[in-house]
Amino acid sequence: MQLDDLYRRVIMDHYKNPRNRGTFDEGAVTINLNNPTCGDKISLQLQMDGDVVKAAKFSGEGCSISLSSASMMTEAVKGKTIEEALELADRFSGLMKGEAVEFEELEDIEALSGVNKFPARIKCATLAWNALRKGIEHEA
Ligand code: ZN
Repeated sequence: MQLDDLYRRVIMDHYKNPRNRGTFDEGAVTINLNNPTCGDKISLQLQMDGDVVKAAKFSGEGCSISLSSASMMTEAVKGKTIEEALELADRFSGLMKGEAVEFEELEDIEALSGVNKFPARIKCATLAWNALRKGIEHEA
């Protein structure tokens, strides 16, 4: 229970104080995705420099799981190459399957591990990561 409380605090912190929320004026790839089962809508923007994700921002609306996940993802992916970013997204998929994976880049992400016990919420948590994949594939 203590662990769950800690995880909940981390998630709520990202929800209430989102990192990288906003939009770039120019020079970014934009991916819009939504999760109709919950009503989450995310617009992700990636600023690429060659094969490196220079910066990421997101806007949109949704539940605490979807928006905190977007906040964490945009923070973790900064400065990563396309290959590293895809590996990160793969690791997040593993987390959603209940695999014991670690996120040295941003330990906050591990707070979402509890979501795998709630299948309906997995789509909320993976929304931003799916947008990341789409945006990167667009570039690659
Ligand atoms: Zn949701």
